[in-house]
Amino acid sequence: MRTIAKWVCVPVAVVLSGLAFGQAGGARMAGYSKAATARQRDIEDRFLRIPSPEKARTLHRILTAEPHPAGSERNNELGRDLAKQFEEQGWEDVKLHRYDVLVSDPREVTVEMLSPVRYVASLREDAYEVDPDTSNPRVSRGYASLSASGEVTAPVIYAHSGNPDDYALLKKHGIDPRGKIALVRYSNPYSYRGFKALTAQQEGAAAILIYSDPAEDGYVRGKVFPEGPWGPESHIQRGAITYDFLVAGDPLTPGWPSLPGARHLKPEEAKSLPGIMAVPMSWRDAKPILENMGGPAAPPAWQGGLKIQYRLGGGAASLHVKVDMNTRLAPNYVVEARIRGEQLPDEWVLIGNHRDAWEYGGVDPASGTASMMEVTRALGELKRQGVRPKRTIVVCSWDGEEIGLTGSTEWGEQFAEELQSKLVAYLNVDSSTSGPEFEPSAVASLAPLIVEVTRAIPHPSGGTLYSAWTERHQRLTAGRKRPSADSALVDVRIGSGSDHTVFLNHLGRPTVGLTFTGPYGVYHSVYDDFYWMNHFGDPGYRYHVLLAQMWGVLTLRLANAEILPFDFAYYVDCVGQFIREIRMKKGVAAHLDLSGLQAANDRFRAAGLELRRATSRSLASGSLGGPGFAAVNRSIMDVESNWMHPDGIPGRPWFKHLLYAARYTYAHLELPGLTEAVEKEDWATARQQAQLLLEAIDKNATLLRQAVSLLQAGRP
Ligand SMILES: [Zn+2]
Repeated sequence: MRTIAKWVCVPVAVVLSGLAFGQAGGARMAGYSKAATARQRDIEDRFLRIPSPEKARTLHRILTAEPHPAGSERNNELGRDLAKQFEEQGWEDVKLHRYDVLVSDPREVTVEMLSPVRYVASLREDAYEVDPDTSNPRVSRGYASLSASGEVTAPVIYAHSGNPDDYALLKKHGIDPRGKIALVRYSNPYSYRGFKALTAQQEGAAAILIYSDPAEDGYVRGKVFPEGPWGPESHIQRGAITYDFLVAGDPLTPGWPSLPGARHLKPEEAKSLPGIMAVPMSWRDAKPILENMGGPAAPPAWQGGLKIQYRLGGGAASLHVKVDMNTRLAPNYVVEARIRGEQLPDEWVLIGNHRDAWEYGGVDPASGTASMMEVTRALGELKRQGVRPKRTIVVCSWDGEEIGLTGSTEWGEQFAEELQSKLVAYLNVDSSTSGPEFEPSAVASLAPLIVEVTRAIPHPSGGTLYSAWTERHQRLTAGRKRPSADSALVDVRIGSGSDHTVFLNHLGRPTVGLTFTGPYGVYHSVYDDFYWMNHFGDPGYRYHVLLAQMWGVLTLRLANAEILPFDFAYYVDCVGQFIREIRMKKGVAAHLDLSGLQAANDRFRAAGLELRRATSRSLASGSLGGPGFAAVNRSIMDVESNWMHPDGIPGRPWFKHLLYAARYTYAHLELPGLTEAVEKEDWATARQQAQLLLEAIDKNATLLRQAVSLLQAGRP
C-alpha cells in the first residue's frame, strides 16, 4: 500500500443538487426511484446487522499467524482457505487464477561499515516478550524486493530523501554520487522507495540504503512499539522497489497476463526491473553510519530525529554492501468469486483487497481482508435470504500487490476486454484500519455517492459515519474556510501504490479506495501484527466492521441502482480545477492557450448538470422502465472509457487515462500528459495533450447529452 498525504479537489463553486445526492431520511437515494429506495433501505438495514467484530478478529488472527509474502506457500494456503470460505458463504464461480511472476527473496544481505569504524548492520528486528509473534524464526531480515544482486565497497553519502533535488544539492557541495553508496531516509516529503532507487540508479550510485528516521515514524512522533503505535529503534520498512510507475504488474510481462507458459521478457529487457542494489534499514542500523559519515554538515532541512549532526559524507567513510537475491518465477494466485446479478448479470461491481504481506501484515493488508470477508459473508447471507443483487458482484483476493501490484494487474490484463465493457466500478480496500479516521478516495464522479452512503452507516460514537467524519474535518480545519461541498472531503486526486491502478489507469474503469487511518509507524515491519492491532489500531475491531459496512453498502448501492449514481457535474468541477492549476504553472500564460479546453469543460459542465436534473426527474416520476435505463446506464459507463487514449501518456503507454495517473513517487498526478509536458516546458507536446483532452471532454459532453435525450424520450 501507499502512505501519502491526502488532497481533495475543493472546487471553486460546487452546488450539489440536494435532490440527487446527500439527503438523509426519507429522500430518494441517488439513482433510485422512491419505491426502489424503500426496497434498498430494507436490504441495507439487513446487511448492516451482519458484520461482526468477533468474526473479523478471529479471521484476523488466522491471517496474521505467520509471515505470508507473495509467492510463499503460506500465502497460497491462505488463498485456498479464502476460496473455501467464499464457497461456504454461498458465493458462485469460485476460481483460483494462477500467474507465474517474478518474485525475489534474499539469500544474503550484508551492510557493514569498514572505516572510520567497523560496524555490521544487523538488519534484524528485536523480539519483545509481550508479543511472541516478534520472535518467530520465520520472520525475514530486512530486504528490498526486486533489488539487483551484487557487491560493492565504496564511500557513503547522505542524500536526504533521495529525490533529484537532493542529489543536486550534494553536487553543489562538490559531492559526486557516482559509484557511491547513497544512504537516504523514508521520507520527507513522501516518495515511493522505487522512485528513490531509480533516482539513485540514474545518478550513478552503486547502491542505495533506505532507513526509517524517527522524525517520520518513530519516537519523535510518539510512543513506540510495544508501548505505542510508532516504530521502535529496530523496525524495518521492507518493500519492493519495482519501477511499477512505468508499467505495473510482473516486470517480465508488461501489458499482457503472466499466465503459465506465456511469453516472458528477458530481465535485461524489462523496463520496470530495478538495476541497483537496495537495502531497507532501521534507524538503529543507520545511526553508526550517519554518525561517522564525515563531510560537510547537512542543511537544517536534512537533519532528522536522531540527536546527531547529520553530514553529507563523501569522504573517508566507506561501506561494504552485498545483496544476493533469489529472483525467479513463482506462482501468484488471485482468488475470484461472484454473486451473479439477477437482472443485469453483465454489469459488474468489483470489490478487492490484497492478501500478500511483508510479514504478518496486521494492518497491511490483513485488516482489509478481515473486513472484506465480513462483506462477503454478509452478502452471502443476504443471498441465502433470497436477496440477490440486480448486478453481478465480483470479489477478488489479490496476490503480489506488495511486489508490484502484480495479481490485480495480471488479472486485469487477462480479462481486459470483459472488464472494459462490464465493470461499473472497482472498490478497493488495501488496509482497512490503522485508526478511527475515515479517508476515502474516488474518481470525482463517485465522490458524492460516498458522502451519501456515509449518512446510512451507524458510527460507534452513536451518530452516523457522516457526522463523525465531517465533525472531525471541521475540527481539523477550524478557522479555515470550509469546502463548499461535503464531496470535497473525498480525496479525488488518486495516486498509485495499490490495486486500483490497473482498473483506473490501464482499463479506464472508475475506482474507489476506502480506509480508516491513525498513528501508524510500523508499516511493512514485523510489528505490523495482531498485537499492534489489538493494542493500538482497532482493539475492539469496531472499525473493521465499520469499514465492512461502508464497503458493503456502497457495493449494494451501485449493484442495485436503477440509474448508476455517478455525478458528472461534480467530475467537471474537479476537472475545471485541474485545468486552473495547470494555468498557474510556469510558462503556461506565455506558451499555451487553454481557453478552448476551458470552453469544452464548460460544455461538459452544462451537460453534466442537465443529466443530473433529467435523472432526478425521471426517477421522481417513475417514467422510464428497465430497457430505457439500460441505455442510459450504458452511456454512464462509457464516460470513464472516453478518458482513455490508446497511445497512453507520453513515455508511459501502459497508463492510458487522460485525467489520472501517478507520479513516479506514487503521488497523485492529474491531467498527466499535459501536466508533465508543461513541467518539462515541452509546449508542442503540451498542445497535443491539451487537444486530446479537449476531444475527450467533448466526446463525453455529447454522451451525456445523449443520455439526457434518452431520459427525456422516456418521459410521459
Ligand atoms: Zn497493502
